Amino acid sequence: MKAASPFSFPVAPGTLAKLAKLGIQRDADLVLHLPLRWEDETRLTPIRDLLPGATAQVQAVVRECKVAYRPRRMLTLTVEDAGGVLGIRFINFYPSHLKLFQPGESFRFMGEVRGGFLGLEMVHPRFSKAGDDTPLPSGLTPVYPTTAGLAQATLRKLVARALTQPLEDTLPQAWLDELALPGFDASIRALHQPPTDAALGELDRRTHPAWQRLAFDELLAQQLSLAAARAARRRQRTTPLPAAQRLTTDFLARLPFALTSAQTRAWHEISPDLAAAHPMRRLLQGDVGSGKTVVAALACLQAVENNHQAAFMAPTEILAEQHATKLAPQFEAMGVRCAWISGSQRKSQRAAAWQAVAGGAVDVVFGTHALFQEAGQFHNLGLVVVDEQHRFGVGQRLALMQKGREPHQLMMSATPIPRTLAMSFFADLDVSTIDALPPGRTPVVTKLVSAARRDEVLDRVREACLDGGQAYWVCPLIEESEKLQLQTAEDTYATLRDQLPDLNIGLVHGRMKPADKQAVMAAFQSGTLHLLVATTVIEVGVDVPNAALMVIEHAERMGLAQLHQLRGRVGRGSRESVCVLLYQPPLSELARARLKVIYESTDGFEIARQDLQLRGPGELLGHRQSGLPMLRFADLERDVALLETARDWARRCLSEAPDVAARHVERWLGTRQALADS
Ligand code: ADP
Ligand code: MG
Repeated sequence: MKAASPFSFPVAPGTLAKLAKLGIQRDADLVLHLPLRWEDETRLTPIRDLLPGATAQVQAVVRECKVAYRPRRMLTLTVEDAGGVLGIRFINFYPSHLKLFQPGESFRFMGEVRGGFLGLEMVHPRFSKAGDDTPLPSGLTPVYPTTAGLAQATLRKLVARALTQPLEDTLPQAWLDELALPGFDASIRALHQPPTDAALGELDRRTHPAWQRLAFDELLAQQLSLAAARAARRRQRTTPLPAAQRLTTDFLARLPFALTSAQTRAWHEISPDLAAAHPMRRLLQGDVGSGKTVVAALACLQAVENNHQAAFMAPTEILAEQHATKLAPQFEAMGVRCAWISGSQRKSQRAAAWQAVAGGAVDVVFGTHALFQEAGQFHNLGLVVVDEQHRFGVGQRLALMQKGREPHQLMMSATPIPRTLAMSFFADLDVSTIDALPPGRTPVVTKLVSAARRDEVLDRVREACLDGGQAYWVCPLIEESEKLQLQTAEDTYATLRDQLPDLNIGLVHGRMKPADKQAVMAAFQSGTLHLLVATTVIEVGVDVPNAALMVIEHAERMGLAQLHQLRGRVGRGSRESVCVLLYQPPLSELARARLKVIYESTDGFEIARQDLQLRGPGELLGHRQSGLPMLRFADLERDVALLETARDWARRCLSEAPDVAARHVERWLGTRQALADS
C-alpha cells in the first residue's frame, strides 16, 4: 500500500479514489485544497442561552433517543445540559446512530438553532462524542469541499499531515516585500488553521491577505503558463506564407466596395502573421456585420498564393454553405479551386471531395467543424479559418490547436472578449479588432412590442413584404426540449401561413434535412420567399441584405448576445431596418434589464460589457470542462488589479528568474498543464 500512495504518507486505497475525484493527487494538492468556510467550535453555549437563528455549539447528555414516524421517519433526540433541554432531529440516519446515541452519553452538537414545535431544536447538527474534559479546538474549524463518502474529519487529518513540514515559498522574499504579500506558508496555514481571533468576515469575503496571496499565485501561474505556451508556439515551425499580392490584390479590385479602414488595419495585422515561420493564432473580433468575412477571404488567398490550402470552417451548415456560395464563385473566377464538404453530402460525394483535397486539386475547402472530426487528409494545409469562434468554446479551440501539424489559424468572433478574459484565458491569442461598420448602413431601429399587439406586427410584416422587402420571423426559444422547439417552429409557420396568405413563407430549423435547409435558404436569398420563419439557427452569420425587418417572438427568453446576433441579420442593406422584439408580459427583472440593454444599444462591445455584468465571466467562458485550468481562488472581476500585477510579474519572472517560474508553475498546475503543452 505504501508504494501505491502518491502522497508522502500512507492513504487508504478507497480514500485515494475519493481524493482523486476532488483533483487531489499529491501533497501539494491537499495543501491547496482550501476550506469553503470555517466554523467556530472553540466555544460552548449553554442551552438556556441559545437563540433561534444563530449557529452554536452545545455540550449535552443524551436523555432520550427514538425513531419517530410523524410527519415522517426520523431520529429524534432529547439532550440536556445543566441549564436546559434541546431537541435534535436527523431525517437521514443509520441504525448505527441509534446505538451511538445511548442515553447518558455526552456529545457536542454544532448547528443552527431553530424554534421548533416543542421548543428549541437543531436539525442535522454536526456532532462528536465528547466529555467535559475533551479539549475545545484552539482555532476555527475549516469546512472543506468534499465528495460523497469522504468525511470532513478525514480531510482535515489528511490536510494536517500534508502541513507537518514547513511549506517552501516559490517566490523570493524580496519580491513578496515589493508586492506587499504574505508568505506562502503563513497564508496557507492562516486558511487551513485560522486562529480563533482570525477575522472570519475577511476570510469569508476572501479579502484576507492570505487569500490575496493565493489569488496572486494562481494568476501568476496562469500567466506563466500562457507565456510558456506563447513561447512554445513561437518556437514551433510552420510554412511561412508571405504576401505575394497577386490574388489578394485581384480580389480587392473585384469587390464592389473598398475595405473600411478598420478592415484594412486588421488585414495589415494578419498578413505579416501569415508570413512568419511560426503558426499564427489570431482572433479577429468585430461586431455583427462589420465585414470579417472579406478579411478572412484575403487570408485564404494569401495561403493559396503560396500554393497552400486553406480551410474555412463555420459552426453550422447554413453558415458554412453561405460562405461557400458567396466566396467560392468569387474565388473560382480568379482560378482558385474550391470544395464544399458537409455532413449532408452523400458518402460518395464527400469521399470524392476529400480525395480532391488530399490530392491537392483543391485550394480552399469550406465546411463545418465536422470537417476536422473526419479522417480526411489535406495535401498541404496552410491556414484554418474558424468563423464564429465563440460558438466552439474554449475546449474545441484547444482541440484544434493540438491537432497534428500546426497550420496558421484565424479565429473570428462577433462576441467581443472582455479585457480581463482577453488577458487571462485568451492571452495566448493575438487579437485584431474591426471597430467600425462599413459605411451606408442604416442603423436598425429596435421596437419593444407586447405580444398583445401581435396583429399590428403582422400588418407591418405584410406591408414590408408586399413593398418589395423581406423579413425574418424568429420563433420562440424552447431551451428545455428540442422536440417542443420543433413543434413551436412548425406551429408558428402554420399560423403565419394562415394569417399572411398573400406572402410566400418558408421555414428553416435545426432538425431539417440539410438539403431542404439549403433549398429554403436559397429561396430566401434569391427573393422568392418573402418571409423566413426560423429558429435561432439563423443567429450566426446569415447575410441577406434585402431583409430589413425582423420579428423576434418571446424576446424575453433570449440572452443578450443571442438577441444582438439575431438583430445583426437586418440592417445590412440600404433599407431602413426594424427589429421588433415581441415580449410576453409580465417580465422578470433580468429579462427587463436585458431588453433595456438591447433596446438602448446597438454596439456589440457595449452589449457584451453589460452582458458580462449581468451574467459574470463564467458563462462567457462557457465550457467548464474545457480542460483549461479554471481559476479557483482568483475572481476576474474582483481581482482585476491583481491580474495586471500578475501579468507584469510573469514577464519579469521569466526573464529574471526562470527557475522561480518553473517551481511556481509546478506547484500550481502540476499535472494539469493543458495550456503549456499546447
Ligand atoms: P460579419 O463581420 O458579421 O461576418 P460580414 O462579413 O458577413 O459581416 O459582412 C456583412 C456585410 O457587409 C456583407 O454583405 C459584406 O459583403 C458587406 N461588407 C463587408 N465589408 C464591406 C465594406 N468595406 N463596405 C461595404 N460593405 C461591406
Ligand atoms: Mg460573419
